[in-house]
Amino acid sequence: MSKKLIDCPHCGEKAEWSENNAFRPFCSERCRLIDLGSWANEEYQIAASSSQDENDYSTGDEPGAREATPTMH
Ligand SMILES: [Zn+2]
Repeated sequence: MSKKLIDCPHCGEKAEWSENNAFRPFCSERCRLIDLGSWANEEYQIAASSSQDENDYSTGDEPGAREATPTMH
């Protein structure tokens, strides 16, 4: 069996795509955690802003003004 090498999506290093690499498609646990973490943040921001866009599609409000709304906890 030949080893399949892939490029780590985070740092671009060669990583082995096999059951030996528990972090695939990343080269290491560190890259995996960093990349998943940044993904979670982006996804949250996109979801939050897109739902507002649907509601305020024709008001012409600046999105930045709404994001500055104080959080109510
Ligand atoms: Zn990496």
